[in-house]
Formats: sequence, structure tokens, C-alpha cells
Amino acid sequence: MTSGPIGICTEPPGASVVKPEDDVQTHMSTISTITPEARMPTTLLDLLSNSLVLRQTAPYLPVSSLLKLACTNKTFRDLVSCQAHESFRYLDLSMVTSANIGGEPIDSGGISWRSKRMDEALTEDEFYAGPLRGIMSRLARQNMLEHVSTMILDGLSVPADVVREIISEDRFNVRILSIREAKHLNERLLMQVLNYAVRPSRPAGTPKLKGLYVFGPMDPRPTPPEPTIGRRRSPTRYSDSPPSGVMTSLGAQIGAEWHKKSQDTYLCKAEDKWYQKTGRMFKRTPISGWAETLQACEGLIHFDAVLCRGPRHDSQHSSYIKPTVASVALGPDGCAKCGSCPEQPARFGSSPPHHLPLLSPPPIHASSIRAAQLPQLRDGSGPPPLFIRCEECLKQRWCERCSIWWDEDCYSHTPGTRTELQNMELLQDWQTVQAAEPGKDEIKVHMGLCVEKCLVGEMMSGAGSGGMW
Ligand SMILES: [Zn+2]
Ligand SMILES: [Zn+2]
Ligand SMILES: [Zn+2]
Repeated sequence: MTSGPIGICTEPPGASVVKPEDDVQTHMSTISTITPEARMPTTLLDLLSNSLVLRQTAPYLPVSSLLKLACTNKTFRDLVSCQAHESFRYLDLSMVTSANIGGEPIDSGGISWRSKRMDEALTEDEFYAGPLRGIMSRLARQNMLEHVSTMILDGLSVPADVVREIISEDRFNVRILSIREAKHLNERLLMQVLNYAVRPSRPAGTPKLKGLYVFGPMDPRPTPPEPTIGRRRSPTRYSDSPPSGVMTSLGAQIGAEWHKKSQDTYLCKAEDKWYQKTGRMFKRTPISGWAETLQACEGLIHFDAVLCRGPRHDSQHSSYIKPTVASVALGPDGCAKCGSCPEQPARFGSSPPHHLPLLSPPPIHASSIRAAQLPQLRDGSGPPPLFIRCEECLKQRWCERCSIWWDEDCYSHTPGTRTELQNMELLQDWQTVQAAEPGKDEIKVHMGLCVEKCLVGEMMSGAGSGGMW
């Protein structure tokens, strides 16, 4: 036998091989009780009837495919509904066109829904909540909604009132909810909803919601498959359009969807941005009120952001800063001088959960905070340290280009002691000063760049090209 190029054993042409019939006979002689049915190929129903396979497969399928599967015949319908706790545990509606209400016509159902509703006396929030409420009602009627414990509504119209229903109504059992880049979401109202959900007089066992993704950007959209030759358009794997192209069998479509989504998930999860030198994590700074909301929710609802723990947030500190959401990821190296920080980095496994942000994408196979916070563990090493802070705590301490930073213990620069003009003057003969007395009157960061490397580099490159220097 020779080994093929991809490691599969191949036979040279004409070699003596066991023929399929021989194989069956050998098999028959060893298993005397074999039935003719046992020789039938494994069907999709066989596979999905295994609850472990269904549990691992279902999250990779768009809800439309699951519902189509249930429509195939009674056996599949029974399978999907009897195993609803597996099939619908993870529900991603973010790519379901009928869940959206954008500026453009979305589908015939959406248009008729809109024209019908526009005449009625609806509030704006009721209007924008309509599509999601419709889907939720349908899933509730089919007894599937109660099984959803991870719900992804990224980029959809999600008024705060819909979040209130998901958190407070009995028909929901959502533990992890993602509403990143949601539209028509009033953040002030959302904060009120959250503060109410965690009020001291709340009923025992509430809120059921344990994790909320709301700050970060939504995960990259999967790319649509290559257009099929001879067709003007082909459906994406999340599309509600009827199947076309070569993959006309349900099994082939499901297989392709599963494969593609698992690849996307793997690529997204390859690096946890909170643990890298990502810099600013959010497209815009969280509005005021969020830090207090995170404080109120501490230990009850976890978010894809945490509060900054820099020493100046201590109420006893001479230059106190009020609670602020940490928005800058500094990477695993810590302060450039001591490799740590006064508040000590957070670490998965030993730090309290409210010191750790939920990581993207939301976990697919579990709906626990632990799974959502678990960072990538590199071969054999322990959980990486997490250095994150708010911008105020990093002012003139952090280089936005190379991510180097100095903590309060290692760099005694006090914000506001020098004017920008004084800084400029000092920098102008920085090289002379450094050459004479290294470390004397040092400035480590100026205009968001570290003086030693990035700022000098900028000055050099700008010197001959009419730049800012
Ligand atoms: Zn230090
Ligand atoms: Zn801070
Ligand atoms: Zn730098």
C-alpha cells in the first residue's frame, strides 16, 4: 500500500482488494443477527435522532432550515419539536430577513406587514418591535421559544421594550442575549430595563438573563457562497429563499451550512480581542450611565464590557475618576516597566466573573457565563492576564500606535501639570536632555504616541516631507 497525497491509503491499479461482496460476507459471518435494513445507508434522520449530533449540529443551522426540516414530514417534525431543547437552544435571528425592518423593502411579507400596520395607531417602538414580536409569537405557539437560552439579535430592530419582554416575561428563558449594533434601541431605556431587572426587591430567581452582549461590534457576517453558474443570484446559507443551484438536497445544504458556519466561528474565535493589543474596543464610547448600570448589575448580569479598575477610580484617590467602562485592550504584557499594574490584571478562573468581559462570538454550544468568558488557552499555558482600562486612566500613559503603556507606579506623570506648549518645548530638545541625563524630566507619551519610538519615528519621517514637524 502507498500513502496518497493527503494521507489516505491508496491501492495501486490492479492490486488484489477485498470486493464489496466479500466484505459483506465477512461481515455477515461475524454478525449473524444483521438485518437487511442495517445495510441501508445512514440517513439524515438517523444522524439527527442522536441527541448529541443534533445538539452539536443545530446551532450551526439557521432557524429557517430547522423549520423547513420540521416541515419535511411528520418524523422530522416530531424530531425537531421533541428535541426542541436541543434544536432551539441557540437561536440566531440576525440574518433572518423577516426579523429586520430596514430602510429598504425586505421581502413581500415585510412590505405587506408594513403597509398594513402603517395605518394603525402604533407608537414608533411598537412599529419597530413588530417583526421580532411576530417571530417570537410564532416560536412560542410552536412551543419552541421557551427552549431558547442563547438569542442573537445583532443588527436587528430591537427597541428596549423587546429586551424588557425577553428579560421579564415567563415565556422566555434566555440566559445569553446579544443585541450588538441593534437598531431603534434607546440605550437610556435599556439601562432602565436592566436596573429594574436587578432591583433589590426583584423576585427570587430573577433575572434569568445572565449575559448581555451590547457594547461590541457584531461578529463579521459570513460571506455568501460563490454564485452558481447560470444563476443570477444564489441564496446565502441564511437566506429564506428557496434552494437553488447544485445543492438541492436538504442534507447537502445543511452540511454546507454547518461547515461554513463552523469555519466562520473558528476564525472569529481565533483571537480574543480583549486579550490582544487591540486598543479601543468600541466604535463609540459608551454613553454616561452605563458604568452605573454595570455596577448595579454586578454579579447578576454580565456584559461584553467591564468597569475599569484603575487606581484613580478609588473614591479615596486624590484625583478620583467616577466609575467608567473599560474600553481599551492593552494586550498581555502589562506596564512597560514592571509588567503588571497596581490593580493587578484580571485572570479567568481566579478573578470574580464581573472583572471579565464576555468574549465574542457568543458561545455556540453552551449558554453559561463561564463559556462566554473563557479565553483562548494556548497549549498548556494558564489563562492569559487581562489588562484593560478606560481612556481617562491611560491619558498620556498609552501609545495608541504600538500599545506600550506605563502604570501609575512606574511613571509619576500627573495629568495637567504641564501644558501642551511646555510639552512641545521639552520635546524639542528631548534628545539633548536624554543624551545628557537619561530619564531626567522624561515625557513618555505625547499626543497619543510614545516619545521614545513612535513620536521620534513620526518626527523623522515628517522632517523632510513638509509634515507636522
Ligand atoms: Zn509598572
Ligand atoms: Zn479607568
Ligand atoms: Zn509607540
